[in-house]
Amino acid sequence: MTYDTIIIGKGPAGISAAVYLVRSGHTVLVLGKDAGALERAESIENYYGFPETLTGAELAARGVAQAERLGAEVRAEEVVHLGMEELWSVKTDSGNHTAKTVLIATGKARAALKVPGFEEFRGRGISFCVTCDGFFYRGKKLALLGAGEYAANEYAELAAFTSDRVVFTNGAEITGHFPDDTRFVTEKITAFSGGDSVSSITTEDGTERPVDGVFAALGTAGAASFAATLGMELNGTDIVVNDEFMTNIPGVFAAGDCTGGFLQIAKAVSDGTHAAKGINSWIKKNG
Ligand SMILES: Cc1cc2nc3c(=O)[nH]c(=O)nc-3n(C[C@H](O)[C@H](O)[C@H](O)COP(=O)(O)OP(=O)(O)OC[C@H]3O[C@@H](n4cnc5c(N)ncnc54)[C@H](O)[C@@H]3O)c2cc1C
Repeated sequence: MTYDTIIIGKGPAGISAAVYLVRSGHTVLVLGKDAGALERAESIENYYGFPETLTGAELAARGVAQAERLGAEVRAEEVVHLGMEELWSVKTDSGNHTAKTVLIATGKARAALKVPGFEEFRGRGISFCVTCDGFFYRGKKLALLGAGEYAANEYAELAAFTSDRVVFTNGAEITGHFPDDTRFVTEKITAFSGGDSVSSITTEDGTERPVDGVFAALGTAGAASFAATLGMELNGTDIVVNDEFMTNIPGVFAAGDCTGGFLQIAKAVSDGTHAAKGINSWIKKNG
């Protein structure tokens, strides 16, 4: 089925938007791989309406239950790719979904790899988007950083550009579904080196392997990776939105920590409600 809106993220921003959208009569699918930042919050004391402290995990679970009771479909799936065909197409670790609009509510971007050379060669041979930059590396020797489902998806996309691909897991457990013939380097990375652009990766066993380019697909696809794929405007790693919480890509909205500002539950909830209002108007105008 085609949903009116697919929401990526089941934290306070995504769930609040879902609550408002289903109550306005829209069909909504919420995709979230876990409880996001709240999973790590041991006690919440500053959110409206809870005189007792409660854990972030409990607040998150209550939010999901509320959205489901009102008619939102909430699934524990990890989004690995977001693209546009005739409609928005959202690929997850379990399948594909389509929608008229998308709300990105993926929380604050995770830290990048803290290894010498990683920041230095970002944009100089280290890329975060196969769809955007793969073309520049046709037939080259490429390294893909990652071990999860997102990395497996990027690895598959790289096949269109080169057959010389090696996956560097940096010591992480391989959880993505890679083809049987995938070449892995599992040691931890100790350095990225090069001149004008990255030209080698060194691992903790002291081996230095030559590369022409590196694609980072660490952890889960987040706001910055969706932004890179779609050409979404960013301010640093924060998604830029207008007053309606729409990004520069028509039909794609963003809310919560991924848009920056005050990184608190109350602000994420507020963003979610505003985004729902923006989505509601957009669907009314554009069908
Ligand atoms: C330790 C800690 C304590 C905190 N304490 C407080 C506090 O006391 N009070 C307060 O107001 N705020 C607190 N915060 C901040 C608060 O948790 C965040 O501001 C709030 O959760 C942001 O909501 P969000 O919906 O934008 O993002 P998040 O809550 O981070 O939710 C992001 C969602 O996106 C999902 N997601 C991301 N990528 C993908 C993908 N590729 N596919 C599928 N799903 C994806 C995640 O699984 C998650 O469901 C705390 C944060 C932390 C880390």
